[in-house]
Amino acid sequence: MSLISCQNLRKSYFENANETVVLDGISLDVAAGESVAIIGASGSGKSTLLHLLAGLDKPSEGSVRFADRDITVLSDQQAAALRNRDMGFVYQFHHLLPEFSALENVAMPLLIAGERYKTALDKAKTILCDVSLSGRLAHFPNQLSGGERQRVAIARAIVHQPQVLFADEPTGNLDDNTGRSVFALLLERKKALGMACIIVTHDNELAQLCDRQIHLSSGVLRG
Ligand code: ADP
Repeated sequence: MSLISCQNLRKSYFENANETVVLDGISLDVAAGESVAIIGASGSGKSTLLHLLAGLDKPSEGSVRFADRDITVLSDQQAAALRNRDMGFVYQFHHLLPEFSALENVAMPLLIAGERYKTALDKAKTILCDVSLSGRLAHFPNQLSGGERQRVAIARAIVHQPQVLFADEPTGNLDDNTGRSVFALLLERKKALGMACIIVTHDNELAQLCDRQIHLSSGVLRG
């Protein structure tokens, strides 16, 4: 059974009577534990597709199923609860809270979910060690390098052991070498946790490291 499955997904925007079609009939299945790279030129609809698969936005037509549950019919609150429990997100920019340490940033989703303070900090510490940042627990974001900040962002995204990690250009703001090591770390953690990864990237070389590559062009899948 697929973890995520979408059928004939269509997304368009209307301005006055003009329709802009962004996604035009996307069907896709992602298995549990699978890594999929979404590649395509800027404006081809990659982020839009990612948002629909994560239930952050609703399609104009078509369905998205997560663990065999139609997520397009969920209320905003139900979709948020599903995301908090089963999904993790990494973006091009780290979006860490500047006034909190690396450890506190990673513990934050657990604390918000009601985890006890000590348990949350223990789990955050373990994950930060897993991403090779055991020596940076008390550092604040402005005391970390770009690559380290992105590692903290990855740790925060996976601290609750999601079933799927969505990453939108996770290496887009890093130099080539750092980007490669952050991408490798993502895939290593995916393997260790058995989670699926859906990664938007414009870097073909990095995309080849995933189990599968899908190409978006003008809102449709090619090849
Ligand atoms: P990518 O991630 O591949 O760069 P996006 O999914 O961000 O592409 O955007 C695809 C297209 O959808 C772009 O042409 C963009 O202008 C259009 N688009 C995205 N959001 C909106 C919106 N809210 N209203 C109108 N057009 C939008």
